[in-house]
This record gives sequence, structure tokens and C-alpha cells, in this order.
Amino acid sequence: MSISLGACASSGAAGATVAAALQFFAAAQCLLNEPYPRQADVTDGAHFDFIVVGGGSAGAALAARLAELPHYDVLLLEAGPDPPTESIVPGLRESLKGSRYDWNFTTVDDGYSSQELEGHHQKQPRGRMLGGSGSLNDMVYARGHPVDYEEWARVAGSAWNWTNVLPYFMRTERMTDARIVNNTELMQFHGTRGEIEVSGAAATDAPNTKLLNAFRELGFKLVDDMTYPYSIGAGRFSHTIRSGRRDSSLTALLNKVHNNNLHVLKNTLVTKILIENNTAVGVQALSDGKELFFYADKEVILSAGTFNTPKLLLLSGIGPKEVLAEFEIEAVQDLPVGEGLQDHVMVINFLAAENGTCERNERAQAFDVIKYLYDRTGFLSYSDSIGVYMPQNNKDPHVPYFAIYPSCVPQALITQQQCTSILGYTNETCVKLVKENEQYEIIVLPVVLLKPRSRGKVTLHSTDPTQNPKIWSGTFSDPADLDEFPDAIQMALSLMNTTYFREKAAHVVDITPAACACEEGAARLASVSCACAG
Ligand SMILES: Cc1cc2nc3c(=O)[nH]c(=O)nc-3n(C[C@H](O)[C@H](O)[C@H](O)COP(=O)(O)OP(=O)(O)OC[C@H]3O[C@@H](n4cnc5c(N)ncnc54)[C@H](O)[C@@H]3O)c2cc1C
Repeated sequence: MSISLGACASSGAAGATVAAALQFFAAAQCLLNEPYPRQADVTDGAHFDFIVVGGGSAGAALAARLAELPHYDVLLLEAGPDPPTESIVPGLRESLKGSRYDWNFTTVDDGYSSQELEGHHQKQPRGRMLGGSGSLNDMVYARGHPVDYEEWARVAGSAWNWTNVLPYFMRTERMTDARIVNNTELMQFHGTRGEIEVSGAAATDAPNTKLLNAFRELGFKLVDDMTYPYSIGAGRFSHTIRSGRRDSSLTALLNKVHNNNLHVLKNTLVTKILIENNTAVGVQALSDGKELFFYADKEVILSAGTFNTPKLLLLSGIGPKEVLAEFEIEAVQDLPVGEGLQDHVMVINFLAAENGTCERNERAQAFDVIKYLYDRTGFLSYSDSIGVYMPQNNKDPHVPYFAIYPSCVPQALITQQQCTSILGYTNETCVKLVKENEQYEIIVLPVVLLKPRSRGKVTLHSTDPTQNPKIWSGTFSDPADLDEFPDAIQMALSLMNTTYFREKAAHVVDITPAACACEEGAARLASVSCACAG
């Protein structure tokens, strides 16, 4: 279904009555319009001081900050268009995954990990629009832990240590979450005068309160600030949501720039960095089928995301010499570009429990749409996601190593199509899950390894700049990552032994594929790996 909204773009991807009704109202009133920067009028061959490639979370912030300096001319090049309405409405964020606003990256089958996912590959959604992945992400306000920045500083210099990065977090942030604002201890690490709003959930979901209480029964401390560096536990996240709308470096920074020294060119794919005498002097780009060249008198800044930044460097002759030779790309510099890819590893586990466990029905009905459009409140206006952080065994108890992101799904909500397209499981696994959900409510327990030792890499499928790069996830390539996973999963599943979930007859949904039924450890890791953890 696709409804034309005139000036208010829509992916038509949200599906179902809610999106249709929302789009209807939005079309009528254009209530959800954002003041995105207009398309720049620049000529082929033009010179700028800075060229920023990629208008995502980083690029939008960078271009906006550079444009604060009136004596510089800044060109921001973004491959995608303005975000659609669904990006702005917090409750519709899931609909953008897999749409034309997603690069739809997938990892290759390494014959080892992700064997229970369809095609043996992981889906890696990333935003292809202004605001980038920051226009489709979950809006959870998260930071690295201080020890992460100290590690960065050891590699990249002291500018990246915790003491030096904290003022930038505080400067950008407009903290309004009452749990944090009213606590002087927590406020040491937050700002209230920045551009990006960080708010508490406008409403709290009853099942999340049950889940948090159950984790408290398991011994976890309940915390008010999930970014507080010196005490970890279970709690509600704060979110980058302002008055019921997504806030991001796009909406809070780039959209606010009115200086005419910022030029934003959308729907423009940068295909190559132009290099002369070992210096980046400009870029080659593709817009509406036309090849364009732009030049930077000071710097070309790449912020094209985790996968497309190395792709662009490789296409420009900067990368491992073997890769450049394989694709017959003229080598400019032999550097380990694309190597050392690291990503959180997620193993999703499911408990089934009696109806009524989640204490709610599907709530996104037409009434929610009206409520949202009337005063930006109700189900569509907020996110009440929760998390649980766990340290590594015998290590600093204040540093998260695993995270659990629990949620409760009412009966008969998971469809075969959603299961295969969002979770990415095979048909066989989805049949089991959907069948279980027909009878029971499902508690979803994704367990995430936050600091894997495994490394993957990004390389090329071809020299065609319009083709997505080749991504080796490297998941579990270092067996040490398997060591503590079974215990972390066991901890998540032990939720079924807590008072509330025991009363609701919670039990494990067994989605173990036949190929993985060999050993206990493997069964527990079935959703990402058939490697036997012993
Ligand atoms: C599904 C999902 C949920 C997430 N949830 C959260 C969350 O709740 N909280 C959190 O803190 N983080 C979250 N993240 C992570 C966070 O969104 C990213 O870390 C962040 O957006 C990355 O910013 P970036 O600027 O590096 O890349 P991106 O934001 O991805 O930006 C890259 C930009 O470059 C553009 N581009 C790429 N190639 C080219 C080219 N050749 N020419 C021109 N433009 C190009 C892209 O279209 C894109 O706009 C989530 C990520 C995903 C994918």
C-alpha cells in the first residue's frame, strides 16, 4: 500500500490500518512536516572549504557544526532523500527496516555463524536518508562506558579519553528525563542546554514494570540512568524523543541551520574520493544519472557509516593491496581498510507464558493515531524500552559485558512474514514461533554480547559503486566469545523462575534446529551459531 502525501513523504512501508490512518491525517494536515534542508543549487565542478560525505548521525552533526563558522562553505552529500513520516513517529520506527530508506545490507554466509537465519546471513539495516541510521534507530540514549573511551584513547590519542569526550555529550544534550534531572549525582554527567532532547518515557508499559521487577528478584539493581558509568543494572532507557517526535542530529542540528554557507545535496551517491599527491581534493558523485565532481579546498570528511565508508575508501584506492589488486583498482595507499569490523552479537531467546502476562492487547488502533495527531501523546508518541546490563565474570562489576533487551508480545501477534523479515529466521523456525504465539504470549529475550573479540571485515563484491559492499560478520570467529554466552542466556531464561512468570507458567520456546541439537551449549546458541559451545 502506498499513499501519496504530496509534500509529506511516506515509505508506505508501515503497513496496516495504523499507518494508513496516520498517513491520511498527515496528508490532510501535513502535521508531521520537518524543516529539512532544501536541495542545494550547486554546479558541477564547484569548490567548497569542506565536503562531508554522508548526512547520517555523524555527518549531519558535523556539517551543522562546521556551518556555524560563517567563513567556511560546507557541502554535505547524502545518498538518500529526506526521511518519510514514519521516521518522525516513534511508534512507527520498525516500519523503515527493509524499506527503500534502508541500505538493506546483509552479511555473507561464512558457513559457521548465523546458520539458523534465512540464507545463513544477518540482515544489517542502515538508514539511507538524511539523518542516516539516526532516522530509523530505536532512539535509545546510549553512550560507551568510560573504559571504552580510555581504550580508544590508547589507540587514537588522549582527545578520545572519557574526560575529553564527556563535555561533548553534555554540550549536545538537553536532558529532560525527570528521573535524572532531579538527581544531582546523575546530573554530573548530563547537560540541559544542548540541542538534542533526551527524555523519559511519556508513559510506562505495564509488562516492562513486571519484567524489571522480575530482574530485581534475580538480584539485579534497578537503576534510573542506564548511562550512569558507576552502577549498572536493570532499568528504563531515556530516549532522544522531543514532544512525541524523533530527535536526532538531523532534526536538532542540521534542520536548524539557516546559514547560506551550508549546501546539502540529497539523492547524491559519492562514488570516489579524488586524490592528488596523496591528498583528498574532492569527490566524484552520481546524482540523477549524472556524474558530478566537487572540490574541497580544506578537507573531505567521510561519514558514510560502518559499511559504506570502507567501501568508498577501497573504491578510491585506499585499502589492503591484495584487495585493490583483486579488483584492479589503482592503489593509492596500502592500509588495512575494512578490517577489524566488530559488532554486538545478539542471540534471541523466547519464553512462552499464559495469556494476560503482557497485560495488554495490540494497542496501535485508529484511536492512537487520532490521539497522536491531536496532541502527540499515546502509544505512537513514545518508546519505553528497557534493558539489563551484566558484567563479565570476575571482571569490573560496573562495566557492562552483556545486555538483555526484554519485551513482551501479546498472543497471536507474530506473523510468519514478520518473523522471517524482521527476525530473519528460516521458515521452519518461524513456523514454531508463530505456532507458540497462537497459544501463548511471548517474552522476547535478546541477549547481546557488547564487547566481542571476534572481528569481521568489509570488502567489495565488485567495483560498481552502486552495489553494497561484501560484509563478513566474523561472528564467533574468536571462540572466546562463546565462553560466557550460555551463562548469560541461562540468566535471561531464569526469568521464568521468578514469582510473576512462574505464576504465568512461563516456559522456554524451543526453536533449536535439528542441526544444532548436538550439545547443550550449541542448543542455547542456536539462533546465531551451530558452533558447539560445550
Ligand atoms: C536498527 C538500528 C537501531 C539502532 N538503535 C540505536 C539506539 O537505540 N541508540 C543508539 O545510540 N544507537 C542505535 N543504533 C546505532 C546508531 O544509529 C548508529 O551508530 C549511528 O546512526 C551511526 O551513525 P553514522 O553517522 O556513523 O552512520 P549513519 O547514520 O548510518 O550515516 C551514514 C550516512 O551516509 C550515507 N551514505 C552512505 N554511503 C554514501 C555515499 N557513498 N554517498 C553519500 N552518502 C552516503 C547514508 O545514506 C547515511 O545517511 C541503531 C542502529 C540501527 C541500524
